[in-house]
Amino acid sequence: MALANCPRCGALFNKSTLDCCPACHEEEERLIKITQAYLRAHRNAPVFEVMQNVDVPQWMLDKWILEKRIQFVKPEEEMSKLRCLYCGREIEPGISICKTCHIRKLTEKPPMGKNSSEAETKSKIKRTGMHVKIR
Ligand SMILES: [Zn+2]
Ligand SMILES: [Zn+2]
Repeated sequence: MALANCPRCGALFNKSTLDCCPACHEEEERLIKITQAYLRAHRNAPVFEVMQNVDVPQWMLDKWILEKRIQFVKPEEEMSKLRCLYCGREIEPGISICKTCHIRKLTEKPPMGKNSSEAETKSKIKRTGMHVKIR
């Protein structure tokens, strides 16, 4: 049994099972339940609002975010929500179409006739040197 002083309250505890004493661990579990409930009710609540209303220290929130136990929607992310050019569903920044539409685009080939005639037109223009915009 590895005894250590709790980094939060200083009490002796068994280091091999927890990273703080059972009392502090219990307190943390109590706080995260309240925080999770608060975030469910206030989906876009910023960090400072949770700190004030749940009375939880910021380092604890940071710890939970790292552990992926809670998640904050950053206001700027909310503002710049992107939508798929094809179906309009929300997509991640950096891409312009969603996965579903991307796969559909890859697998769905245009009809052969249209494709070949377009290539034909292009080569014809190249030969004759006409300046025509192809739409
Ligand atoms: Zn403690
Ligand atoms: Zn889409």
